[in-house]
Amino acid sequence: MQRKKGLVHILVGDGNGKTTSAVGIAARAAGRGLKVAFIQFLKSGLSSELASLRKLKIKVISKTKFCPNYQKHKLQLSKKGFTVFCRDCFLINEQDKKLCREAFKKAVKFCQAGKYDLVVLDEILWAIKKGIISEEELASLVKSKHKGCEIILTGRPKLKSLFSLADYVSEVKKIKHPFDSGVLSRAGIDY
Ligand SMILES: [Zn+2]
Repeated sequence: MQRKKGLVHILVGDGNGKTTSAVGIAARAAGRGLKVAFIQFLKSGLSSELASLRKLKIKVISKTKFCPNYQKHKLQLSKKGFTVFCRDCFLINEQDKKLCREAFKKAVKFCQAGKYDLVVLDEILWAIKKGIISEEELASLVKSKHKGCEIILTGRPKLKSLFSLADYVSEVKKIKHPFDSGVLSRAGIDY
């Protein structure tokens, strides 16, 4: 089912809930029979929402952040219900850049094709901040998208130059986070 006009959302800020909000809209869209793609940048593919999205028949692209201990994390998650992310989970290497560039190529294709009613580019703003994708490339994706395609862009950095291209700009601001008092992120809640 193709919408008449797809709008553009930007979710930014240092608070918890940007991806969560995008997952929520994706679930809502799928519930209405819309065709959804959910593309993650600089993410390991271990986060629990991906299984839920797949159950909703949402096209998922993740694993754009490589960690040599991926199998160990995966096994630990399935056996113990949690994993402790290592240093390599956060260090961006050349392979990650390549994976993100490939995911971005797919994102451009999905946004232009008219096949998807909603395309989420989760953490794309972080990938821009890290110099993997340029602001110009993302602006060009937004401008060239199929008119019926709705797009959600998420990430912590407030890239104000992109705000003029969006219809919704929302900031998630941290007031409190359990990490500040030493609580590690929890599987099924935080990832
Ligand atoms: Zn790791």
